[in-house]
This record gives sequence, C-alpha cells and structure tokens, in this order.
Amino acid sequence: MQLSNRISKVGESATLAVATKALQLAKSGVKIFRFDVGESDFPVPANVKKSAKKAIDEDFSKYTPVAGIPELREAICKKFKRDNGLNYQPDEVMASSGGKQVIYNALQVLLNEGDEAIIAKPYWVSFLEQVKLAGGTPKIVATDEKFKLSADAIAEAITEQTKVIILNSPCNPTGAIVDEKEQRKIADLAVEKGIVIISDEIYEHFVYDGKKVRSIAGYGEEIKNLTLTVNAISKTYGATGWRLGYVAGPKQIIKAMINLQSHSTTHPDSIVQKASIAALTGPQTSVKKMVKEFDKRRKLIVKRLQEIDGFETFLPEGAFYVFPKVSSFYKGSLHNSIDFANFLLDEAKCSVVPGLASDADNYVRFSYAASRKTIEQGMDTIEKAVKKLH
Ligand code: PLP
Repeated sequence: MQLSNRISKVGESATLAVATKALQLAKSGVKIFRFDVGESDFPVPANVKKSAKKAIDEDFSKYTPVAGIPELREAICKKFKRDNGLNYQPDEVMASSGGKQVIYNALQVLLNEGDEAIIAKPYWVSFLEQVKLAGGTPKIVATDEKFKLSADAIAEAITEQTKVIILNSPCNPTGAIVDEKEQRKIADLAVEKGIVIISDEIYEHFVYDGKKVRSIAGYGEEIKNLTLTVNAISKTYGATGWRLGYVAGPKQIIKAMINLQSHSTTHPDSIVQKASIAALTGPQTSVKKMVKEFDKRRKLIVKRLQEIDGFETFLPEGAFYVFPKVSSFYKGSLHNSIDFANFLLDEAKCSVVPGLASDADNYVRFSYAASRKTIEQGMDTIEKAVKKLH
C-alpha cells in the first residue's frame, strides 16, 4: 500500500520504543518509576468536574459552534485579559481539541510548500512534525548551554521564506523561559519582517523563583496583529485527557482556522467546553497549590541528580521538566540518549524521555510530575545503577 507523501515525511518517534517497553514492564507488574510523563498528577479541580457532570445531566450533548460555544469564547477572552493583559473579542479566539490541535490548525492555514518555520532546539517534537505535515520546512536554531533563546539566533535564521516563528516559553523539554529582553527583540524582528509568531504558552503558570512569563502579543498592537497565543486547560488544570486547547490571534487567521476545523474535528467536546468555562473563570487556587508542590519537586529532583556523579544539570526556570546532560555516561555499550534511557529502564526501573526526540542527544528529560516519594525512590535506584558505569 502506497501511503501519502505527506505522512511519509513525518518521522517515526525515535523514542517510542523506550516508552512502549516502559508500559509493557509496568503492565507485567514491574514497579516502574515514571519520569517520562508529560502531565500533572493533580486531579481536575472539583468545581470543574462538577460543571462537567452538570453538563452531562443537562444533556448538553449536541453539536456546538465550530469555534466553541459563545460563553466559552467569552471565558477565553476573560482569561487572556486576567492572566496576560491581552484584549481580545470573542471572534478573535477559538477552542480546539487540545493545544496540539490548535498548533496543527495554525500551521495548516499559514504554511505553503517551502515556507520556513523557525523552531528553537531542544524542542517539543510535534512542532517539527506538524511543520512538515503542513508542507513547511523546519528551520532549527540553537540555544545556549542553559537552553536560552536569543533574538540574534532567530535573526540569523530568518530568510525570505520565513513565515512563522514558534516560541515555547516555558519550554518542553528544558523548562527554559525566553527572557523579556530577547522576547522584545524577537517581536521587533517579527514586525519588521511580517513574520507570524506562534507562542505556545501552555506551561505559563509553571514558573518558579518569582519569575514571570510575558505574552509576546503584549508588546504592542503590531506584534499582537502577528501573534497566535496558544494555551490549553491540559497542564494547568491536570486535564490532559479532556482535550481542550484555545488560541487568540488576528481575526483573519482565526477565521481560517475555524474553517479548517469545521472540516476536521468540528469542535471540541461539548461537555468539556462547559467545564472549561469553570476552569478558566473559576477560582485559580488549585493552580497555585499545584505549582507550589511542583517547585518542591523541582528542587528535590535537581538536588538528587546533581549529587549523582555524571548528571550535569541546573534548576530549570519553568514547566515541570529537568533536562540533564548525560553524555558522560556514553561509553561501552551506551552510545546515545536512547541507550541511556533503556539502561535507566532496565537497571533502575526509571522511565525517561531520550533527548534525541528534541534534537538534543546528549540529554534525557525527567518529568517531575511525580510525587516526592517517587522522586526519592527513583533517584535512589538511579544512583545505585549508574555506579556500575563508573
Ligand atoms: N505544547 C507543548 C509544548 C506541550 O508540551 C504539549 C503537550 O505535551 C502540548 C503543546 C499539547 O498540549 P495538549 O495536550 O493540550 O494538546
């Protein structure tokens, strides 16, 4: 069977084999310390659950408008105003089935064959594959040793073909934040060249040490008119499985994205739309509580990793990932991040994500969306296992 050229261009996940093995081991009863999971272990807040149950009981089960029900679009506007200081009207926002779907829709309506999209590495792997799926060419730019992105790196990568710059701050997999000074310069570059920014702010609340992330769309009307600000209820409300993402941006792009969505997923789940209104406009105390706990986990896992000979790392600024350099372990039969992730799985019963997936093969990603007890136990087993390598 000849599949489409489109899907043939999309890489098979190099890391899938490790994840599949971890799942198989866990299923067969082996206790696996899961540090590969990209989602909060906190439950969905009670008021959000209640509103989902109410929607079911009220039979809110039919098709809705493609961009989301009007009350949800209004709630999204309120959220952008409250958290990001951004003013949008309901026809400048829409909801989709997850943040991933939002970015997919955006790239599909923006990119033509040969258009370039700038992505900073280490990156979230779907950025790369979604650009390719849309017929675009990913243009990868490097960050520094602390994974910080500079406007100069972006400037160097811009060509006549550059259509989009994808920003992700705080970043998956590194937790790095784009500093305000660099962000402002990137905004100026985008305005000067007329490049669209896709700003993935899905980890915006996961920032520590009093740091704040700013939405790039907030630097003035010109950049706002070129920016799609992407977010989701997934990480913030521990609702990854509920599949609701949303976006604000220029009316023309949003309209095209609605048109595209009308011929694919139609709209996000009707029940989840109702619940998302409660999530976005209700009390935000659960988020603060969750982030406070994640901060403790962040400090714990980094301290433990730093105490183990061979892991090079530092406190990440945001998200819930730590991305240590592990290439000092690459000797003997261990050649790369996939081998090392397999070693951690086999010898320490810990699952991590190989950095290769993010074009950073000297690293592996640990998620600290795991209890402090799991972190302590996992680090104990890793400490013992890697001693064999020295
Ligand atoms: N953007 C980034 C940077 C992510 O890490 C993820 C999920 O891991 C997503 C988007 C997708 O979010 P959602 O689950 O809402 O589709």
